[in-house]
Amino acid sequence: IRTIGVLTSGGDAQGMNACIRAVTRSALNKGIRVMGIRKGYNGLLRGDIVEMTAGSVADIIHRGGTILYTARCPEFLEPDNQKRASEMCKVFGIDGLVVIGGDGSFRGAKDVSKFGINVVGIPGTIDLDIACTDYTIGFDSAVNVVMDAISRLRDTSASHERCSVVEVMGRHCGEIALWAGLATGADAIMIPEDKESADFERVVRIILENRARGKNHNIIIVSEGVGGSQELAKRIHEVTGIDSRTTILGHIQRGGRPTALDVKHASMMGVYAVELLAKGETDRVVAYKNGQYVDYDIDEALAMHRDVSMDIWKANVDISTY
Ligand code: ATP
Repeated sequence: IRTIGVLTSGGDAQGMNACIRAVTRSALNKGIRVMGIRKGYNGLLRGDIVEMTAGSVADIIHRGGTILYTARCPEFLEPDNQKRASEMCKVFGIDGLVVIGGDGSFRGAKDVSKFGINVVGIPGTIDLDIACTDYTIGFDSAVNVVMDAISRLRDTSASHERCSVVEVMGRHCGEIALWAGLATGADAIMIPEDKESADFERVVRIILENRARGKNHNIIIVSEGVGGSQELAKRIHEVTGIDSRTTILGHIQRGGRPTALDVKHASMMGVYAVELLAKGETDRVVAYKNGQYVDYDIDEALAMHRDVSMDIWKANVDISTY
């Protein structure tokens, strides 16, 4: 491998910059050139590509977002465009590609590799929704943003004896809700993967039981994928008479300084990805599994299935009702 291209694709996540830095610096130290591809696959199709130096990644280790920008690129689903992307790689001398993103981005990488470019994916998404890995870059930072927001909400919610409904990110995956719920002592956690968790009557019952035990406020965490968080607060108020408000944390969860855990994983995975490409490997996804950095074939990784952490949900039920 003579030249590695690096891009970020799909949703942004804290720690992506630290990963770009690790890829760039470790490649340069191996004598490999590095090209930064901007705006995901859009930039690859349009040749929005800049040469990276050790200095281009200075002073970004602590910054959220991605200096390479990120995007969704629907036209990349067309095989003609995948071929064009591989031709653009050749124009810039790129013979190895590191793609930091989610499952969709890995599918795109696999398509580019069909035209002779070596590719490696790195899991970067706040959602923790990639089956092959126990960790995705951005998750810990997002959970910590939620935790910080909820500790603020708890102060005001307790003072007004309110019920706070907090909507967190996760359209298909409840991990942020689960971790943040356990970490903040939520009364209930509602996730899209489990019908019982999202049952309205059950949540009202918990609120009433906890109030009867002397609790003067409540925190209900709703994963985005469950939907109806505004409506939920209204219905809780109608049924129980308890003043209830919804807070949708939204994009705040994606921003800010990455936590130490994210910078660590981002840096280790970036170095690992470059080592794979330097060895001539292709079609691999870097993963963190059982405490070790490993890699899987992209197709094998995409075919894997992982259950949401219901053990966290059950533990929270044990702790939050007493
Ligand atoms: P996130 O977890 O943030 O959603 P993601 O990588 O799964 O990340 P997607 O929007 O699914 O996000 O995919 C990002 C981009 O990858 C798409 O906009 C598209 O350019 C490319 N992509 C997705 N699926 C495919 C596919 N099946 N074939 C080729 N390219 C794809």
